[in-house]
Amino acid sequence: MKKKLIIFDMDGTIYLGKDLLPGVLDTFKYLYDKEIEYVFFTNNSSHDLEFYYKKISNFGIRCDLRHNFYSSTEVTISYLHKKNVKKIYVVGNKCLKDKLSPHFKLVDKYDSKNKIDAVVCGFSTELIYQELKDACLYLQTQDIEFIATNGDYRCPIEDGLYIPDCGGMCEWMRLCTGKKATVLGKPNPEIIDYLADQFRVKKDQILVVGDRLYTDILVGVNAKVDTLCVLSGESSIDDVEQYAYKPSYVLDSIKELPELLEEIK
Ligand SMILES: [Mg+2]
Repeated sequence: MKKKLIIFDMDGTIYLGKDLLPGVLDTFKYLYDKEIEYVFFTNNSSHDLEFYYKKISNFGIRCDLRHNFYSSTEVTISYLHKKNVKKIYVVGNKCLKDKLSPHFKLVDKYDSKNKIDAVVCGFSTELIYQELKDACLYLQTQDIEFIATNGDYRCPIEDGLYIPDCGGMCEWMRLCTGKKATVLGKPNPEIIDYLADQFRVKKDQILVVGDRLYTDILVGVNAKVDTLCVLSGESSIDDVEQYAYKPSYVLDSIKELPELLEEIK
């Protein structure tokens, strides 16, 4: 089936750190010329979308902030609305709180008399202990939703090193409270349904492209859409062969994506 929407991971797929991967600009020119829609999706809720828009557009890729960029924050907002959530406590960066505050009432501290609907945890690089403490007190004393914007335990940075991510923070809270977070973002298929809706495409017209098996490929498997694993980032061909779920396609990089799309027409 001809693809109409391609959902791209960014780091390891489009670029590595500060460097654009070879052949990427030609691939995006092909997609634009063929009128194939593309979006950039990140699990990372610690930056706002402007950060990614600037990075991608500075590489020379044609894109629009409102049309082409989505993060686990947008999925979280959509999910909370579906659950009829009104009042929340947030563990996360200021940019996450700024995105959530027009939609929900945010409470800023634990108060046993203040009834809330959910605790929301994002990837916080501005974390303070009081936030974890307040969130844990709410989770122990009220029957509420516990939402994680994403489940990644760690986030890759330069030189093959990692920093703690949202999944680790939620694990800390789980160990304290016994409550397990509902994890949004990849690999939760919610994002694929959300984007299929936004772009009015059918699932067999979607291709998910990424370098990480347990998020990028698994989200496609969970949503029953085609997936392409590129070997330009985290995963090697050995990793792909050993992983329980197989991507629909494997390529060295998205440089070869136009040929693949010609073949699967
Ligand atoms: Mg990646």
